[in-house]
Amino acid sequence: MLVDVHAHLTDPRVMGRLGTVMSSATAAGVWRVVTCGIGPEDSRAVLRLVNGQVRASLGIAPYDLRGYEEVLELIERNPGSVDAVGEVGLDLYRGSRETLEEQVRAFKEFIRLARSLDKPIVVHSRNAGKLAIEVLMQEGAERVVMHAYDGDVSAARRGAERGFRFSIPPRIAESDQKKSLVRRLPLEALLLETDSPWLGPSRSSINEPKNVWFSVEWIARIKSVSPQRVVEVTYRNALETFGWTD
Ligand SMILES: [Zn+2]
Repeated sequence: MLVDVHAHLTDPRVMGRLGTVMSSATAAGVWRVVTCGIGPEDSRAVLRLVNGQVRASLGIAPYDLRGYEEVLELIERNPGSVDAVGEVGLDLYRGSRETLEEQVRAFKEFIRLARSLDKPIVVHSRNAGKLAIEVLMQEGAERVVMHAYDGDVSAARRGAERGFRFSIPPRIAESDQKKSLVRRLPLEALLLETDSPWLGPSRSSINEPKNVWFSVEWIARIKSVSPQRVVEVTYRNALETFGWTD
């Protein structure tokens, strides 16, 4: 009943041993993995992986928007195979201030497309969390996954009041900001992610979907609830956000 709502299975570090990665995920109780595209070529590769367990979200890295129109088109042309739009969003860590206007413009186009197709949107918001939440609110986005949110916790709470959800990666082990995010958001606003092969429990680890367990255990500890409760609630949250039935 575990759902990894954000991973990059097309990354060579995972793709090269995808069979093993997915069978360990299944053995660990992972029901679904949403693999997210970060560009036109990668989004095409994501579409080729879709099956019952691997679900597709198509997007582009906000710090390299070359070909973003192509990604919009891919989403429009494959509504049946695409479960979500993203990752898309804003990045002021790798992207410069000068590109912000362009980033916001593209982000809005993806939000509008997600709304018109009634798909959730998976948001990358590195060093731009508060602004990303403001843009999403302005655009009337409803089903939102804020992935690896590194921003202001009060802005996150305002998002959560609108129904936005925040996916928590295993790297929470080393992040006080993520721990405080979990402490101050209700369990109903949380989802599980790995961002594989990134954001593993430690910096040196190559992450994979079975590691959502690390997120479960940290959330359970912080919220003083059982891991089973975290699994159940985040599963229901994922069903609701992605519009899935079990
Ligand atoms: Zn990612």
